[in-house]
Amino acid sequence: MTSAPPIPVSDAVDALNRVFGYPEFRGQQREIVEHVIGGGDALVLMPTGGGKSLCYQIPALVRPGTGVVISPLIALMQDQVDALRTLGVRAGFLNSTQDYDERRLVEAEFVGGELDLLYVAPEGLGTPGVQRLLDRGDISLFAIDEAHCVAQWGHDFRPDYLSLSMLHERWPDVPRIALTATATTATRDEIAERLRLNDARHFTASFDRPNIQYRIVGKNEPKRQLLELLRTEHAGDAGIVYCLSRASVEKHAEFLSANGIPALPYHAGLSAQTRYENQSRFLREDGLVMVATIAFGMGIDKPDVRFVAHLDLPKSVEGYYQETGRAGRDGLPSTAWLSYGLQDVVQLRKMIDSSDGDLNYRRNANRHLDAMLALCETVTCRRTRLLAYFDQEAPATRCGNCDTCLTPPESWDGTVPAQKLLSTVFRLKKERNQKFGAGQSIDILLGKRTDKVTQFRHDELSVFGIGADLRDTEWRGVVRQLLAGGYLAVEGEYSTLVLTETSGVVLRGEVTLMMRREIPTQRLRGGGSASSSSRSRTPAAAPADFPAEAEPLFESLRAWRASVAKEQAIPPYVIFHDKTLRAIATLEPSSLDQLGTVSGVGQSKLTKFGADVLAVVRGETPPSALPDPDLGPDPEPDLIPDADL
Ligand code: ADP
Ligand code: ZN
Repeated sequence: MTSAPPIPVSDAVDALNRVFGYPEFRGQQREIVEHVIGGGDALVLMPTGGGKSLCYQIPALVRPGTGVVISPLIALMQDQVDALRTLGVRAGFLNSTQDYDERRLVEAEFVGGELDLLYVAPEGLGTPGVQRLLDRGDISLFAIDEAHCVAQWGHDFRPDYLSLSMLHERWPDVPRIALTATATTATRDEIAERLRLNDARHFTASFDRPNIQYRIVGKNEPKRQLLELLRTEHAGDAGIVYCLSRASVEKHAEFLSANGIPALPYHAGLSAQTRYENQSRFLREDGLVMVATIAFGMGIDKPDVRFVAHLDLPKSVEGYYQETGRAGRDGLPSTAWLSYGLQDVVQLRKMIDSSDGDLNYRRNANRHLDAMLALCETVTCRRTRLLAYFDQEAPATRCGNCDTCLTPPESWDGTVPAQKLLSTVFRLKKERNQKFGAGQSIDILLGKRTDKVTQFRHDELSVFGIGADLRDTEWRGVVRQLLAGGYLAVEGEYSTLVLTETSGVVLRGEVTLMMRREIPTQRLRGGGSASSSSRSRTPAAAPADFPAEAEPLFESLRAWRASVAKEQAIPPYVIFHDKTLRAIATLEPSSLDQLGTVSGVGQSKLTKFGADVLAVVRGETPPSALPDPDLGPDPEPDLIPDADL
């Protein structure tokens, strides 16, 4: 492939306008871009969809030399580079998926100064070969994407990221910009420290994602609950369903498919080829559901993921926020839905206890889980809690777009039931020297004479039947909330319940335990524009201000985009986002100049697609869709050798 000629850009605004087709910078972008163009180091924290890429792409275009981007997203590099090339940016990548010839070509382009951006995997950068190569070219900047991967206690730790501290030593004059969409203050400090970014300027945007509706529900019948969510609120939408285990991924992908919802599995146990194919289909086709472990999703820039559903409890708030952040990058209403139950708490605690990690590791893992549980059990606004976790203040104490704001949960005084439960655990241990799981304690409290209760003569305990005023599900809620609060713990292979150092505080009545009452599963209404009923009809959720008259033209433009995307084997949103197509459908431009004023239409896309788009606007078949007269008729089908014969 021969390189395109460079697009000469005079400064940052010129690059923004002509290359990306955007009229102005968003938020802190301008400041960040100017700081890096001036040679400064930067640590950028911005939520997913905030516009981090431009923060290094524009400086790379303006500064002489090639911007080297370090990214763990090997399977997405091809797509990222294709998207940049569609914009007329000279981009390439180096990673382990390439063969020798492909590599040599990219290396030659880099050394010859023919690349604006070069993507490399962190493990590549650690090799002397790549380091020597980089010495032979001109580097404008280093961009360290997904910088939270360097944090050891984070949820995405990649050991290769640790070696990135050498960038500063080896190329002290090259500015570095590290970017991530999630970090607590502690993680931020860890990133700065490990990447030797001590003198870097920190830019922290608000992490709020107002278009995402956060909902956490009790797990009763998870399959039915999931199906109902998808059918009633997200019919035809693209989304991600996260499961804890590979087996659960397989099971739920099959379940959804069997129920008429197109779904694909993704987990680390599938072959690289299958993973790549499924990811690629998810990005390119409309309305697919990806059922996945957390191995999936980092760097997925599909703008119209309408929901992220967690069937199991995430291990940390940081992970949860990163995963849910993949919904609604286009700013349109989206759902983050999590179902969680007692079993999740028990299972995760057990996983932590039986892990290979040392005491320090386990303590950290439990701390992360505690924060996640506190989020689940809160009776206050979820968004406020989430932002507080990242040391940020929410715009309001009640966001109006989370389940607790939309349907305020009843809270009730659970102190006495908690005492009854703890006494049961205490008596089993003291009077019988026995430990049992949650189920047995609940049966005892409810006064159920199950086989196991009579076998162990637990009906003779003084606590037998003293909790018949609550239902089984309510008792499970009590256990869960005691576990979440650390007043109770699980232990060993059979997940038995044991008292903790703080159990006494509850038993002596020194605290009041307000608990979240279980609300039966229901659809949430309200939340202003987040109301779901209007968006379930069309997969391309339209914003409220989009005129209905423009809808037919928007659909024609989408159809044209789909055919071009297919022909060029790139995701449709790489050509134009829905937002840009809607703006075109509303404006109905009649000239290239007019089309060029639309946000998202840069110089290169105008040249490549302008004539086509104007033809679609005029109601004609675009020039690219007409048969090429020089090619003659299509070959007869029976002349094509049949592979099956
Ligand atoms: P992030 O990497 O922070 O998740 P991206 O860099 O992918 O986000 O940007 C999210 C979306 O916003 C992209 O579609 C991008 O083109 C768009 N975008 C970024 N900056 C601007 C801007 N200044 N004006 C308009 N759109 C922008
Ligand atoms: Zn809220």
